[in-house]
Amino acid sequence: MNEFNLETYKKRIFKTISKYKLVEPKDKIFIGLSGGKDSGCALFFISQYLKTYKVDAEIFAFHIKLGDFIPEKVIETVKKQTEICEIELKIYDIKNYGIDYEKISKLTRPLCSSCGTIKRYLMNKISREEGATKLCTGHHGDDFIVFFMKNIIGKNIDWITKFTPYLEGKGKQLTRIRPLFFGSGEENKNFLNSIGFPYISEDICPHSLLKQKFDKRREKWYRVINQISEWQPNFKIYFLEGIIEIAKNLKEQKEPFECEVCGEPTNKRICGFCKLIKTQKDAQ
Ligand code: SF4
Ligand code: ZN
Repeated sequence: MNEFNLETYKKRIFKTISKYKLVEPKDKIFIGLSGGKDSGCALFFISQYLKTYKVDAEIFAFHIKLGDFIPEKVIETVKKQTEICEIELKIYDIKNYGIDYEKISKLTRPLCSSCGTIKRYLMNKISREEGATKLCTGHHGDDFIVFFMKNIIGKNIDWITKFTPYLEGKGKQLTRIRPLFFGSGEENKNFLNSIGFPYISEDICPHSLLKQKFDKRREKWYRVINQISEWQPNFKIYFLEGIIEIAKNLKEQKEPFECEVCGEPTNKRICGFCKLIKTQKDAQ
């Protein structure tokens, strides 16, 4: 296993930010924080980059509060993360968007999938309504390599166009930036541990049983790509650069539709969030 070097990692992430022009003057970059290591790391690097290169752009952090079942320590951690980076934090409660987690958790559809739909929807909607020019996420290189392979297997070739550090927004869909595109979850953890940056490391959600199963499968994928990296130097970097080239050469994605119910971007007539609200109501 390669030894972790703090400065080399920082250099790699900063290079991604500058090479792919992830931040520009006058940007209003929004970042959703879960309390975990990846979003925390993305926040840290973006805020450090703006300070180091004196970029005249702003960062706003927000946390989507899923419900009272999430321990208070998550909010405390997110607060500490933003205090360290000197960034303003706003907290949004999903109750105010018509979601009742108790009810959602009793539906037959997998809860983590509903949770993903809610978070993706609100992250885009909240940021856009608050005036964001870009939405920053903590997705890292290992995620993209695994997504890529899974989408090849599933023949979802269109999705691969989304696998780039900078994903141009379309219609109401905000531009996404992924500063950790050439990083990994393990390196994010090592980095934050080395600088003493707080994050939640354990599974805190009481509904995480299904997610744990999914995480275990993902760990197996990670293990495979880490094994290749041991005998093939720079495997991940070259693979990710290859993904970017493929994404560039694939046909452009069409502009999303606007949901007939809420007007938010979707690739169907009615978005996943509105369908979830309807299922929640029908189950009452
Ligand atoms: Fe949501 Fe809990 Fe599943 Fe995480 S584990 S996706 S917080 S339901
Ligand atoms: Zn909708």
